[in-house]
Amino acid sequence: MKAKITLLPGDGIGPEIVDATRQVLESVAQKSGHSFTFSTHLIGGIAIDETGVPLPDDTIVACRSADAVLLGAVGGPKWDDPTATVRPEQGLLGMRKALKLFANVRPVKLFRGLEAASPLRPERLRGVDLVFIRELTGGIYFGQPKGKETRNGLRTGFDTMVYDESEIRRIVELAFEVARKRSKRVTSIDKANVLQTMQVWREVATEVGKANPDVQLEHQLVDSAAMRLVTDPSSFDVIVAGNMFGDILSDEGAVLTGSLGLLPSASLGEGTLGVYEPIHGSAPDIAGRGIANPLGTILSAAMMLRHSLNLDEDAKTIEDAVQKVLDSGLRTADLGGGTNSLGTTQMAQAVMAAIEGA
Ligand code: NAD
Repeated sequence: MKAKITLLPGDGIGPEIVDATRQVLESVAQKSGHSFTFSTHLIGGIAIDETGVPLPDDTIVACRSADAVLLGAVGGPKWDDPTATVRPEQGLLGMRKALKLFANVRPVKLFRGLEAASPLRPERLRGVDLVFIRELTGGIYFGQPKGKETRNGLRTGFDTMVYDESEIRRIVELAFEVARKRSKRVTSIDKANVLQTMQVWREVATEVGKANPDVQLEHQLVDSAAMRLVTDPSSFDVIVAGNMFGDILSDEGAVLTGSLGLLPSASLGEGTLGVYEPIHGSAPDIAGRGIANPLGTILSAAMMLRHSLNLDEDAKTIEDAVQKVLDSGLRTADLGGGTNSLGTTQMAQAVMAAIEGA
């Protein structure tokens, strides 16, 4: 297998965790006889500093011509002025748009041995293994009209929630595809009791469900889903939601495991090209100290092998290696490693040793 992987380290801890993950990918490639070639490009704050824009054209070209893209994180205090016209996160949004990535996929799985890091009691956490599929390019974040104006002498803000059936169908169908490889259950999130947009969402989800009877579909209102996520999280398999509800629920889901540093994600479109990144930000408070947890990025690379490169076995090799490292008690500082904490490179090396020993 030959693959071209574009690396976008970005800002803060991004370069540290992406470099550690590249080494892990090289060790998998060596073990399985694959040939991965890497090219590194600018995005986010560092791209603004060096080129004046958060997503230079050659970064888009490099992403389009790659088999997969691995991203660190963007942003930081240096570029945080909310009134600035050029901002790091425009790089992310621009890339999603340029690559037509309409779905964000976030698995949430509890790793053995990390139960104590979760804010929930261990008995509530048993068996938590779910996937969020969030619509990424439509809904209230992008709907028009939106704006701020004075109405009857009062400052007024407004946004528009809008989805057409094609946008709903493609994300729900993706959820069914993902569920088919898991426990074959999809929960579609809406607010159909109040919002017209969400009535269309429910109608289309129901149609997809009828066309795919091998997967069980249930509908749930977003408010009760938020409660169920903390009271009975293991009852979910695949959760599909629009942009805003998915944004909020997937962050609620992220804290179930207790460490932001562990969770991977993928942004996918119609083809096999995807952008893979940890769910956390650029962690400017620890950037440059070599202590960032690289596991969320390493697990994102496993998702990349599975979804974009069709290398299921190698993805599993990485995931098993991560579990093995955690089973052996090795921890970064954010996982409560205390004075025995491993740094970013050491943690990656432990994963590589587990891969080589597999
Ligand atoms: P953050 O996720 O960067 O950090 C939150 C806390 O978690 C911090 O204490 C940080 O040290 C810790 N943390 C995060 N990742 C870690 C890791 N891998 N290992 C150990 N500890 C880790 O969120 P924030 O502080 O709200 O945001 C910082 C910057 O990142 C902001 O500029 C924000 O806009 C940006 N951001 C970017 C993305 C992205 O690139 N996708 C996502 C979220 C936030």
